Amino acid sequence: MAEPVLAVDRLEKAFGALKATNGVSLDLRPGEIHALIGPNGAGKSTLINQIAGALAPDAGTIRFLGRDVTALSTAARARLGLARTFQVSSLLPDFSALRNIMLAAQARQGSSLRFLRPVLSDRTLTEPAMAILARVGLTARADVPAAELSHGERRQLEIAVALAMQPKAFLLDEPMAGMGPEGSKTLTAFLDGLRQEAPILLVEHDMDAVFALADRVSVLVYGQVIASGSVAEIRSDPEVRRAYLGD
Ligand code: ADP
Ligand code: MG
Repeated sequence: MAEPVLAVDRLEKAFGALKATNGVSLDLRPGEIHALIGPNGAGKSTLINQIAGALAPDAGTIRFLGRDVTALSTAARARLGLARTFQVSSLLPDFSALRNIMLAAQARQGSSLRFLRPVLSDRTLTEPAMAILARVGLTARADVPAAELSHGERRQLEIAVALAMQPKAFLLDEPMAGMGPEGSKTLTAFLDGLRQEAPILLVEHDMDAVFALADRVSVLVYGQVIASGSVAEIRSDPEVRRAYLGD
């Protein structure tokens, strides 16, 4: 079996007496979508935050592309190719869709965000950014400020921003949240192709999307992985059905 791109080993994080992540181990292999599901408060976002470097684990290790990144900053992990989107939007609202992508591409080159002034007339900067916008279906919206995009368009733009970092792995926290059925369908098709570019750790409540996309599913409950397997295995697991799928 191929070496995992990302491997999390016995990760722990407590908030006071609450063990939000209580010994989580999982990995992400080349070309796959690994879905992480579980009820609200299970610790999914906490886990993503630790993997991305926004939250320091109390114990455990995170390996990315064969190296231990547990002590690295968020920025250092991003430069290595670990891209994430948030449950809540992280776009720069006053900047156009195009400029949001150009900023991300420049951040990838290592410049600090506050010093960035992407030049919109520089075609060597705009062309790759326009190509990414085209991939997520936002060509016609290039000049629209992020704040004026529809909810679905903003979620697409967030993934476009992540793409601009030329990632080696994606961490996506509820990308379908708040999307209508049409938006979810478009995004599902897009993510389906995206896995070839870089594997995806996908936190998602939309079970239609999870069952359509996931090569593997892990179920997190009270900070612990209670089951992990194929979609078929997870759907027929009695403990998962009791704890999460609602029967
Ligand atoms: P999920 O994303 O699965 O819904 P979270 O990871 O957001 O769950 O939260 C897991 C648990 O940790 C919840 O009980 C939540 O209230 C708690 N929690 C999350 N972040 C913090 C924090 N910064 N301080 C205190 N408690 C937190
Ligand atoms: Mg969450």
